[in-house]
Amino acid sequence: MSKPKIYLIDVTNRDGVQTSRICLSKLEKTMINIYLNEFGVFQSEFGFPFTRHETNYLNANLELAAKGALSPMRLGGWMRATQDDVKLSFKLTPALKHVNLSISTSDQMITHKFKGKLDHASIIKEMADAVAAARKHGAESVGVNAEDASRTRMEYLIEFAKAAKDAGADRLRYCDTLGCDTPFSIYERIRSLAESAGMPVEVHCHNDLGLVVANSIAGAKGAVDAGFDAYINTCVNGMGERAGNADLVSVVLAIKYGSGMQGYALDERIDLKASWKICKYASYAFGVPIPINQPGVGSNAFAHESGIHADGALKDRRNYELYDYEELGRGEPEIIETGRKITAGEYSGIKGFRNVYDKLEVPFQDDKEATQILELVRYANVHNQKPLVDEELKFIAAHPEIARKIFTMEP
Ligand SMILES: [Zn+2]
Repeated sequence: MSKPKIYLIDVTNRDGVQTSRICLSKLEKTMINIYLNEFGVFQSEFGFPFTRHETNYLNANLELAAKGALSPMRLGGWMRATQDDVKLSFKLTPALKHVNLSISTSDQMITHKFKGKLDHASIIKEMADAVAAARKHGAESVGVNAEDASRTRMEYLIEFAKAAKDAGADRLRYCDTLGCDTPFSIYERIRSLAESAGMPVEVHCHNDLGLVVANSIAGAKGAVDAGFDAYINTCVNGMGERAGNADLVSVVLAIKYGSGMQGYALDERIDLKASWKICKYASYAFGVPIPINQPGVGSNAFAHESGIHADGALKDRRNYELYDYEELGRGEPEIIETGRKITAGEYSGIKGFRNVYDKLEVPFQDDKEATQILELVRYANVHNQKPLVDEELKFIAAHPEIARKIFTMEP
């Protein structure tokens, strides 16, 4: 058996978009998937397959993956661990291959959320039936989520995990739903869980105590020390419910550069060079600025002003910098047009539109093709309600039929 590794399962398109007062259009979710694939994440939790307004977006992204335009990253759907959710999900999204099934496991939630509808034994039965149903519908990988795992009694959590494994689950997602864990507690709990249940663990943490990245790597270390792969759940720019999820870039930096983490292997597909692009895009799409002191991608992350630090950094960057800005895809100047600029919007005409695409060096076969793409770009602007970025314009020209599906909803 090869040495266990740490993989990333990004949940921006699921937990990130659940954030209060924040949303992404289906085109923006698609672009995030494309950037996550470039970043090298193992799986993108790309949405809710039982939710009808997501159907066209999810199917279109699965089609992109089948065409090789969004691979090798896996696309995983989130649903409740009930046979009804599983059935509806596979009906609406038949090409779905990877799922995570979620159910609460803490006494608090079993008593005060299910209010007598389910007890400890029936929670395990519901979950096992849902896993079996997902397998029956052709799921190639199944993760089982223990919601509120951090407040769940250990004996019950282990019993739950063993039952998930017996039912055919590949991984258990340990959810610190309220963000109450510390690196000390989560390390011990996940290590003991992985050892006792004998399976890989996903680490899903929230930042209510400001410990989210520390908890994520401590939890992953627990699983690896027990001899199993670990899967850390991340979100771009640390978006996510309340105080957010584990920031994608910070998690990678912590594994690569954190003291004592050198012996822990990170999925070799991870490419930090894609950081700058995905973080800038997500900030624009969410409409949430990147804090200036954000690790790696904040505007001050490599800025030095005090005499001693500036002098030291200029003599040798290793005096005051732990890692290089180039490693994060930074360092290129950004050009902002200060003269005339033609943009493509929902009321654009063909002349201005062709000027925009000429600048992007995207050719069209003839006027007919240009007119068809223009029409889609108009829809995309209505859909996003903000100016499209170059990569979005290129995406629409490269995959017009997929784009058409993404913009379509049938209530
Ligand atoms: Zn969450």
